[in-house]
Amino acid sequence: MSSPATTSTAAAATAAEPAIVFDRVGVTYGRGRKSTVALADFNLRVAAGETVALLGPSGSGKSTALKALAGFVRPTSGAVRLAGRDVTDLSPAKRGIGVVVQSYALFPHMRVHNNVAFGLEAHRVPRNEIGARVTEALDMVGMSAYAKRLPRELSGGQQQRVAIARALAIRPKVLLLDEPLAALDAQLRQNMLGELQQLRKALPDTAMLYVTHDQSEALALADRIAVMRDARLVDIDTAQNLWRQPSTEFTASFLGGANLLPCTVNHVTGTAALVSVGEHTLRADAPPPSVGRPDWVPNADAALVVRPHTVRIVPLAERDALRGTVVTSVWKGASTRLHLDIDGIPAEVTADVAGHSPLAIGDKVGVRFADPAGVLVPPAIGTASAADGSEVRA
Ligand code: ADP
Ligand code: MG
Repeated sequence: MSSPATTSTAAAATAAEPAIVFDRVGVTYGRGRKSTVALADFNLRVAAGETVALLGPSGSGKSTALKALAGFVRPTSGAVRLAGRDVTDLSPAKRGIGVVVQSYALFPHMRVHNNVAFGLEAHRVPRNEIGARVTEALDMVGMSAYAKRLPRELSGGQQQRVAIARALAIRPKVLLLDEPLAALDAQLRQNMLGELQQLRKALPDTAMLYVTHDQSEALALADRIAVMRDARLVDIDTAQNLWRQPSTEFTASFLGGANLLPCTVNHVTGTAALVSVGEHTLRADAPPPSVGRPDWVPNADAALVVRPHTVRIVPLAERDALRGTVVTSVWKGASTRLHLDIDGIPAEVTADVAGHSPLAIGDKVGVRFADPAGVLVPPAIGTASAADGSEVRA
């Protein structure tokens, strides 16, 4: 990793390279038959001022990627660079990265002030500057009034704010957050999301890598979302692009939840297609071919991504309406989630309708898809549909 050749290449690239570069990073834990590939051929670039969310299910390698960058785990292959400097072999303290983890990791016997000062001392900040730097960092998270408290005298949300202040005190150019809200309850998580958005605004030059398994956090915070699965990055784009044109079934269901209806392509005109879903013919968006996306041809198998909120319930008598039966109906407050058995469609279809629906199990309803009904993605073998993103693997 630190061979003379690599070092000089990195130095030459300094001016042009973004704040964070993962260059074909692989991490394998253990050896031999008991080894686990936690990260494989992982490439990612994050610009100064940019926030990228690493989004994926538990065990997909998100924390491992973050640890490889922070220096807590040594890559088995590849290199990590910060602003063009190869730091693969540098100790964590020398990387100047701010790290926030789910469990706060505050020192229980130290007061808030000292918890935040600790990192500054480790970074050899002059003693006479430490007080002001601690106050500055605590101010950023609204915690200066709590400087004299012990961690156990704070709520979970307050402890996490202190942990964030501690990471910010060293004025890092790179901030890593690993599921920082996962230990907080739902209401507090919402509030903290707003505060993290404000923090991003206050740190316009800082590159952030935000690890989460929660798509709503990724949507709220990230400029781009990197979707991870089984140690690999499988999709990366802005949230809106991933939502509109996911390149895989996995991304479609993990980000936003979707019906994935098996279909066959009948006819393609430009980026529009007619597809057969069971006994019905529907119009679909057929994005142009790109990496991971085929050129759609007649008779090709595909999956039609239908977002639950686009499926409408209409009177049974309405002309050309599909006929369905309510399988389950769950009121969620602002909306009701229906599972529908639709005549001529082999897969169950999930629909979200606004408000409280009076429909009950067994009711016969008319159903209408939007036009186009959704977007095509390549079919994934061995993958089941999951509108809530919970069971994307069969
Ligand atoms: P995530 O953060 O996405 O949940 P991780 O990066 O923590 O995933 O883990 C990825 C894979 O590596 C998992 O299969 C996990 O069990 C394994 N793993 C993580 N840390 C270690 C370790 N220290 N030793 C052995 N295996 C590990
Ligand atoms: Mg993790």
